[in-house]
Amino acid sequence: MKKEIVMKKEDSAGVLEKGWLDAGSRRIDEIIIHCSATPAGRDVRVADIRRWHVEERGWRDVGYHFVVCLDGRIERGRPLWKAGAHCMGHNSHSVGVCYVGGVDVEMRPADTRTQQQKVAMKQLVGLLRERFPGARVYGHCDFARKACPSFDVMGEEW
Ligand SMILES: [Zn+2]
Repeated sequence: MKKEIVMKKEDSAGVLEKGWLDAGSRRIDEIIIHCSATPAGRDVRVADIRRWHVEERGWRDVGYHFVVCLDGRIERGRPLWKAGAHCMGHNSHSVGVCYVGGVDVEMRPADTRTQQQKVAMKQLVGLLRERFPGARVYGHCDFARKACPSFDVMGEEW
């Protein structure tokens, strides 16, 4: 069995590169969590999601700002200083964070987060809240009739 890699709190800044939290002139007051709606265990990267959003939806770039991979690695999506395309009516003043997964093998909504993803998401959200004091954390489903992100974001401690 593969050993779980748990990043220590003091390493948390290391998961992001310099500049990734630069929102420019945007005022951020919401952190909105999404899932990629891909089956548990499928290794999807920001490059894949970018391709879907650009080629299939005709957008200029991936809609999310951050993608949390199965192994807990955080990949940068759209630069934070640009509005995302992830939650209608909220894009101008929010950050979009997407974890890879969110459905089971039969494509039913399921909380498929790996332990590494849970740790990385907590760290990322923690850093975002430090950077944008007062920002609140929501799930996409808190604003839209969707199952995304397949878990109760507001029921968790961030
Ligand atoms: Zn979503």
